[in-house]
Amino acid sequence: MLKSILGAGAALAMILAAPAQADELRDEVMADMPGLMEVYKDLHANPELSFQEFETAKKLAARARELGFEVTEGVGQTGVVAVMENGEGPTVMLRADMDGLPVVEQTGLPYASKRTGVPASGVETGIMHACGHDTHMAAWVGAAQILSDRKDEWSGTLVMILQPAEETGEGALAMLEDGLFERFPKPDYVLGFHDAAGAPAGFIGYAKGFALANVDSVDISVPGIGGHGAYPHTTKDPIVIASSIVMRLQTLVSREKNPLEPAVVTVGSFLAGAKHNIIPDEAKLQLTVRSYGEESRQQLLEGIKRIARAEAMAAGMPDDKLPKVTVQDPYLPSTFNTPEFTEQVMAGLRERFPDRVFETPPVMGGEDFGQFYLADPENIESLIFWVGGAPMEDWQKSQAGELDLPSLHSPFWAPDAEAVISTATEAMTAATLDLMPRNGG
Ligand code: ZN
Ligand code: ZN
Repeated sequence: MLKSILGAGAALAMILAAPAQADELRDEVMADMPGLMEVYKDLHANPELSFQEFETAKKLAARARELGFEVTEGVGQTGVVAVMENGEGPTVMLRADMDGLPVVEQTGLPYASKRTGVPASGVETGIMHACGHDTHMAAWVGAAQILSDRKDEWSGTLVMILQPAEETGEGALAMLEDGLFERFPKPDYVLGFHDAAGAPAGFIGYAKGFALANVDSVDISVPGIGGHGAYPHTTKDPIVIASSIVMRLQTLVSREKNPLEPAVVTVGSFLAGAKHNIIPDEAKLQLTVRSYGEESRQQLLEGIKRIARAEAMAAGMPDDKLPKVTVQDPYLPSTFNTPEFTEQVMAGLRERFPDRVFETPPVMGGEDFGQFYLADPENIESLIFWVGGAPMEDWQKSQAGELDLPSLHSPFWAPDAEAVISTATEAMTAATLDLMPRNGG
């Protein structure tokens, strides 16, 4: 679901970055990398669609059990919760998402996916880990291994979850509604990461405060009065009404919103009619609406309703045949990184990865990671950060204008998985160890 993360400029310094300092934790990650790459390649070759992550969940649940976690499967349909209680201290939750996408892989990698499946559209398609959730899971395994191995170095409760259906925006909520915070220890801290296609491999990016946007999906059905295309005066043409709606919607962001508040209104689908000489009796629009904050969100949604109605009235449609605007419920709320916690974790990572950690601007993409924080914003600290995945050589070519980097969700997205997994494993593990010191902090 997440699209481009980082602007080009922010990461320039990475090219000149000093090699990170060596230490014991890094050595342990490096020693684990051959095994983690096996995990990654297997996951990459065998992606599963949202809420169909049966084999993925089973495989990784078995690994967590071997490491000594108390593991529960089937939380929120296919989700996995692995708990390790280890004395007094805070509860830290680490999250990886599991689903692949209905994309036919074209990377040409030796471990490219040949899997097919049937997504919600009902049309069979290839499946690919085109969003990099396979790197998330491999790093999840890496962190689980090291944290169980170093149990004598931390004190508290570790909750490691594998979330289904991030791509449809449903999985986090499904786990919460299935009692994630009631049946299992409720976290004080929630941590996750996402690979980033627009940043060089091994680079760490983060946004403080809002990181990802509110995402609303809006359907508008625009009734008309159909008839013969040769006699438009006997009809009310819904294609013309809907066209006016589409054009007027552009003024929501350009004329009604404060230019300093980010917002997007995109009409992604416009369906109407069947034949040259028939004026249809309905047109249908599908919109994605992005915002930060509830007030901004409501302003856009109210504006869409007002414009749809008013354009139909302007065309002379009767009161009982005005457009129907449906806002998908639940919507995907914005992802908020709690500022102090973000600064605390990043201070540790900056020390560990000198010249590889950068603050980045928020984006209008969406993620359902924010749901965990929103379940109890008074008591939960939350952070999702980015780990750059673009192979360094490709990144440099792209900076020189010689190559267009594939984005996440592209059939060509082939991250430098070693860099993503090793960086993320080390970062997640180090942050967790810092949050749960042996002496109780
Ligand atoms: Zn995605
Ligand atoms: Zn994703």
